[in-house]
Amino acid sequence: MTLSTDLGSTPDIARRGLMLVLSSPSGAGKSTIARNLLEFDPSFSLSVSVTTRKRRTSEIDGVHYRFVNREEFEFLRAGDGLLEWAEVHGNFYGTPRAPAEKAMREGRDMLFDIDYQGALQLQEKAGEDVVSIFILPPSMEELKTRLLRRAEDSAETIAIRLNNAKVEIARWRDYDYVVVNDDLDRAFQAVRAIIAAERLRRDRRPGLAAFTEALLAQEVG
Ligand code: 5GP
Repeated sequence: MTLSTDLGSTPDIARRGLMLVLSSPSGAGKSTIARNLLEFDPSFSLSVSVTTRKRRTSEIDGVHYRFVNREEFEFLRAGDGLLEWAEVHGNFYGTPRAPAEKAMREGRDMLFDIDYQGALQLQEKAGEDVVSIFILPPSMEELKTRLLRRAEDSAETIAIRLNNAKVEIARWRDYDYVVVNDDLDRAFQAVRAIIAAERLRRDRRPGLAAFTEALLAQEVG
């Protein structure tokens, strides 16, 4: 099934950019959904976070994260260089302010792969531009299986992440939408449907006023 994300909108009606927040416990499939979204919907760019966590072998510095040490993180935070930040699983993570603000100014959509603490901070700062989606695993057993299958983290790290998953899942009410990822394709289509609808919201499309005025001024015989 294909689903255009521009259903019913026309390119000449200006709209504000979306700040799409995707959160989930580790292993619920959020990263795959985010990767697919960036591939299929070129109007999204990814907000690349800074983190003090160690780089996994599959990760590229500057693409998946900007890996920094504790001092560099403190420096950014103290200089108001982060739009939001949080401690997650014993490491620090933060969203660099400048790229996100530039994207919003230019009316581009941005994807934020951040946890519930970051989602709350963004909602406080930029509420009306934020659309938040929480991805749930179909069961805790499946979550564990996915974490083990990824095989990129130590047994100790996996145990910490499973424990933290319950804390994160308990925050589901903080989100606009909740998607259960029992099937990756279905979950991805649900995320795209949410985006398509959110892009059509009247209050996100300042260009509609001029468009409807012009429509009403048209005389037809
Ligand atoms: P991981 O270490 O598995 O890449 O990410 C751990 C958690 O940190 C994930 O839930 C991820 O969404 C979250 N995270 C990544 N970057 C940020 C960020 O910049 N801010 C916040 N608040 N959370 C983040």
